[in-house]
Amino acid sequence: MRAVRMTHWGGPPVLTDLARPTPRADEVLIRVEAAGVCRSDLHVLDARPGVLPYRTPFTLGHEVAGRVAERGPGATGPAVGERVVVYGPWGCGRCSRCAAGAENYCDRRTELDAARTGTGVGLGRDGGMADLLLVPSGRLLVPVGDLPASQAAPLSDAGLTAYHAVAGIRPTLSLDGDGDGGGGGGGGGGGGGGASVAVIGVGGLGHLAVQILRATTSAQVLAVDVREEALSLADACGAHFGTLLRPDTAAVLRRRAGGVGGVGVDAVLDFVGSHSSLELGVGALRAGGELAVVGSGGGELAVRKPGALPPGVRISLPFWGTRPELEEIVALARKGAVRVETEEFALSSAPEAIDRLRSGRTRGRTVLVPD
Ligand code: NAD
Ligand code: ZN
Ligand code: ZN
Repeated sequence: MRAVRMTHWGGPPVLTDLARPTPRADEVLIRVEAAGVCRSDLHVLDARPGVLPYRTPFTLGHEVAGRVAERGPGATGPAVGERVVVYGPWGCGRCSRCAAGAENYCDRRTELDAARTGTGVGLGRDGGMADLLLVPSGRLLVPVGDLPASQAAPLSDAGLTAYHAVAGIRPTLSLDGDGDGGGGGGGGGGGGGGASVAVIGVGGLGHLAVQILRATTSAQVLAVDVREEALSLADACGAHFGTLLRPDTAAVLRRRAGGVGGVGVDAVLDFVGSHSSLELGVGALRAGGELAVVGSGGGELAVRKPGALPPGVRISLPFWGTRPELEEIVALARKGAVRVETEEFALSSAPEAIDRLRSGRTRGRTVLVPD
């Protein structure tokens, strides 16, 4: 079978031939129908040796959908032939977090990292940019029914991570009472009283966050990006307002959020995580607001009390999401409330597709499909 491999730190991805894996014990073999390309793949490829707790080589691809091809003798869960999406964060499977389906926050993460056994599918473990994928257990599979594979695959990371981040800020959006915002009215900043959220970075994750916010909250959604193309996608996804990143963007967002003299936005979802995006997030935030840093852009934020951060601000670092949340985002997609904007490439063109993401030419999510 073919596989797109991370062979050495800092090197390009390599398309290789590997032997067909055989599922043993609880393992399940998936015939891959689609695998998403995430900016985290670039962070992995570019990492310096020793920074990430993974052994090379391994197959990339942490957003995977396909069909169960073969099951080990002890396997549970979906039957051969069933269409599934892979729940990507692979924990110990035994601690209380894993038992609750929150393998993204497995209690044994430090131990697993020390043993260099990987964070999950395609992240130190063999992933889904391949013809076939071996999954350790049926507990890591969620049925998707007739959802097209190129829609299902990105839901397992871009969709799930955005969904989990939105779930995290929900209490903050309701601080004023019912969390009712400028939704439905096409924006109209300055109204006051309603919750508002800034989405920084409208790429693979961000364009789904905009849709999830619109589908599950009434907050006013304000989008920021450095590319016009991304802002047009934000608009198509239902954002009330969009702006390019400029020196006065924090002030613009505060004004759009409304309230007395432009008090600031209730929450910021930062899908970039760079110095400039963190600075913008902090500058736009209202007292008692929340900054959720999702992007791994290498920026740093100084936390001091008292200091530059508004009083009462919460900072969170959401990571991926839970298995029940994956079921919820799959359900939202199946009823048409969320639609992934995709650009499809053949698996054999993976290196070109990854380069395209690097040069900022992707609209929505790049998905690799078998050729
Ligand atoms: P992407 O490249 O598809 O999207 C990023 C978007 O941000 C692009 O539209 C880009 O134009 C825009 N952008 C870049 N710099 C900006 C700036 N300074 N201000 C505003 N917009 C800016 O990337 P993605 O796949 O959506 O991933 C986004 C980030 O989230 C990456 O850092 C990735 O590693 C991280 N990530 C985190 C998790 C997690 O669990 N925490 C999961 C998946 C991805
Ligand atoms: Zn990812
Ligand atoms: Zn665990």
